[in-house]
Amino acid sequence: MKKRILLLAGGQSGEHEVSLMSARSVLGALPRDQFDVTPVVISKQGRWLPPTETQRALESGEAATGGDLVLHRVASAEGYDAVFPLLHGPMGEDGTVQGLLTLAGIPFVGSGVLGSSVSMDKVMTKQVLASAGIAQVEWRLAVRREWQQTPDAVRARAAELGFPLFVKPANLGSSVGISKVGTPDELDGALNLAFGLDRRVILEAMTSHKPREVEVGILGNDAPIASPVGELRFDAEFYDYETKYTEGRATMHIPAPLPPEVAARVQAAALTAFRALDCAGLARVDFFYVEETGELLLNEVNTMPGFTTTSMYPKLFEAAGLSYSELVTRLVGLALEER
Ligand code: ATP
Ligand code: MG
Ligand code: MG
Ligand code: MG
Repeated sequence: MKKRILLLAGGQSGEHEVSLMSARSVLGALPRDQFDVTPVVISKQGRWLPPTETQRALESGEAATGGDLVLHRVASAEGYDAVFPLLHGPMGEDGTVQGLLTLAGIPFVGSGVLGSSVSMDKVMTKQVLASAGIAQVEWRLAVRREWQQTPDAVRARAAELGFPLFVKPANLGSSVGISKVGTPDELDGALNLAFGLDRRVILEAMTSHKPREVEVGILGNDAPIASPVGELRFDAEFYDYETKYTEGRATMHIPAPLPPEVAARVQAAALTAFRALDCAGLARVDFFYVEETGELLLNEVNTMPGFTTTSMYPKLFEAAGLSYSELVTRLVGLALEER
């Protein structure tokens, strides 16, 4: 019997378009002799689109409006063997959709409510990983109400970290809303941008030197494995949205040219993080490697990483001998596994 799979894509976050690109790749790769796949695109307003509108959105790469309220549509998810929530960012990668699917009793690809929500929030991630003994940059939390009522307290907290520093919405991805703040006079603009996108904002010290950016894929449930380590190189102040998604701006190096001992540290720390955060299925764990000092700092954990055929996560497992189509098949298998 073929497995019936519901593929969710799009969604309400700033990564709507990125998700649709990933979804096109996954749709093309799930073997049709094993799976019956139904895509459903979620509009930017959070509504689930019927088949013709879904098709149109997959082709155009965007769905601003249209569709039905999610609670009207979730009953239609019944009868599927598994859901692949290929959604990035808030209202998709953050435990919300995972909660809905858990309530509906439908298995799904990736982390559950706890792993998704904790990994989505950069502050919660840092707190959990610190308690697991994982090295990270220094950071501070600020919430919107504070920024509105006592901005000087927030500015003082930022100054404790020194400049340059990074300002980020705590719950986002694809570098949306992230600024590298070089001097104090750039701080307010960066905070306004980040607070426009999230109630919680993280301030992060910059690594002591411009870091090398290395990433590793994790695959599995309770016995996860790590992929080879990859490295991103680009010519920009930091890995911002444009650099991420403009063809030719960044290059991927797999395996990363690292001493084997450093690569082994990356894989071990990523596996520790995956377990500490209660992740499942998959995650891409991003690190800063400061060559000058030998420091390895965990930056973040992405529980639903970019998933086009040329994205880092599938490329890392391809280097480990797993084709894109074998990888997505394995992920559905992990969703159906008894845990
Ligand atoms: P993703 O698309 O991987 O989910 P994201 O939006 O969650 O990304 P981060 O990975 O936290 O964002 O940061 C984006 C980029 O900003 C990093 O890849 C790096 O280039 C730069 N950066 C972020 N924080 C720091 C830091 N503390 N020190 C140096 N560079 C940083
Ligand atoms: Mg991220
Ligand atoms: Mg992300
Ligand atoms: Mg990142």
